[in-house]
Amino acid sequence: MSIQSVNPATGQVEREFEPHTAEEVEERIAAAHSAFYVLAGTNFATRGQWMRAAADLMEADADEVAAAITGEMGKTLVQARAEVLKSAKAMRFYADNAETMLTGRALDDPSAVGASQAYVRYQPIGAVLAVMPWNYPIWQVIRFAAPALMAGNTALLKHASNVPQAALYLDSLFERAGFPRGAFHSLLISARDVEAVIRDPRVVAVTLTGSEPAGRSVASIAGSEVKHVVLELGGSDPFIVLPSADLDAAVKTAVTARTTNNGQACINAKRFIVHNDIYDEFADRFITAITSLKVGDPTDPMTDVGPVATRGGLGELHELVDDAVHKGAKAYVGQCGPDGGWYYPPTVVAGVTPAMRLYAEEAFGPVATLYRATDVDDALRIANDTTFGLSSAVWTNEPDEERRCIEGIQAGAVFVNGMSISYPELPFGGVKDSGVGRELSAEGIREFCNLKSVWKG
Ligand code: NAP
Repeated sequence: MSIQSVNPATGQVEREFEPHTAEEVEERIAAAHSAFYVLAGTNFATRGQWMRAAADLMEADADEVAAAITGEMGKTLVQARAEVLKSAKAMRFYADNAETMLTGRALDDPSAVGASQAYVRYQPIGAVLAVMPWNYPIWQVIRFAAPALMAGNTALLKHASNVPQAALYLDSLFERAGFPRGAFHSLLISARDVEAVIRDPRVVAVTLTGSEPAGRSVASIAGSEVKHVVLELGGSDPFIVLPSADLDAAVKTAVTARTTNNGQACINAKRFIVHNDIYDEFADRFITAITSLKVGDPTDPMTDVGPVATRGGLGELHELVDDAVHKGAKAYVGQCGPDGGWYYPPTVVAGVTPAMRLYAEEAFGPVATLYRATDVDDALRIANDTTFGLSSAVWTNEPDEERRCIEGIQAGAVFVNGMSISYPELPFGGVKDSGVGRELSAEGIREFCNLKSVWKG
């Protein structure tokens, strides 16, 4: 079956691509395996030069790439362009910092282990498979690929099947920039073909960003092969607002935090937990702001929220909200998008109880849930009453509340008086069912390295 690029704003098939044959997949795995021996023999300066050239190419291609990703997954063109430019910036960040991050360390007192010298060093490990989602079709891949290639690893990408144009753009990018052939390749394969790639002895590790079921499946296969795995899975991030917060800023940021990327980011704030003393005012202003957002054509610069990426995702949002309303919740519904596209109106749901699916499941689209908390402890209880633990936000100007929230929230990150964003400089990843391992920063580049201890008598 062909791999289709379907425009979520119209539901029309724009382009079709043939999946790779078994022979093409074999060639690409073999190329990644041999390129590893070439790449691992280069130095940081050479790889950095190639990585900067790749960043230059991506910036030069920004308009074209942004149009392609808006056309196949529906994010606004403004946000698509920002994603491409952020990716180029991350490539330069790793070009500049990889060597320092992988320098290792020496024991101050090697005699403690009976050695004249003792130190650790980081070495690349080989070809790594990346299974990636469609929601940030360039950024998700680059935040894995830039550190992996700078460390000296090679990479194979199995991208989500609804973003083949992004996959094919990335397929040639690094070779165009100077990296050896095979250093980075896309595999146009289906999810069921991933198992054979993980089990291939030439593939040494795997990273997956996506849903929890996909993560569990990939991790169990990798586990049975004793291969390292990094998982970046779903999130249902809390956004806590306490009485001392700057309410204007909190409401404005809450709207962006919930609806950026058409509400389809793992680190979108999804559950808004508001202290009783300010709940009514926050709720009024938040609901008014979200339901006033302009929904429509993602290529229009005036559009705030475009369509969701897949017909299945749209159906899922309807089911989650209908279930909550049917069980007694109240939904405040914003503008509908034009007919024909996969639009879901920005919606706030209040009165959510544990009996409703929305309480426990991730809503991957512009749907916010509102909770009333009696005090800080109650806010933390609600925030942590989830199987997810990706990121979080807390709004307060009280130092003691800030400290209690930073310590008490079970998540991979806490943003105080702001919204969750990924930065190349900060580690990114979750606890609980949101994943294992970290991407970005020094921790991210070290995930796919052999930390080798050296002892010299
Ligand atoms: P998904 O269905 O899990 O797909 C992600 C990738 O996994 C795609 O390439 C998909 O291929 C592949 N895949 C799916 N099932 C698989 C399986 N059983 N074995 C191997 N590969 C498999 O996720 P999605 O619906 O596209 O993305 C949304 C989810 O990703 C949300 O839960 C979101 O929170 C999460 N996410 C997390 C992060 C993070 O950093 N923590 C970032 C972005 C998104 P096909 O497309 O061919 O099915």
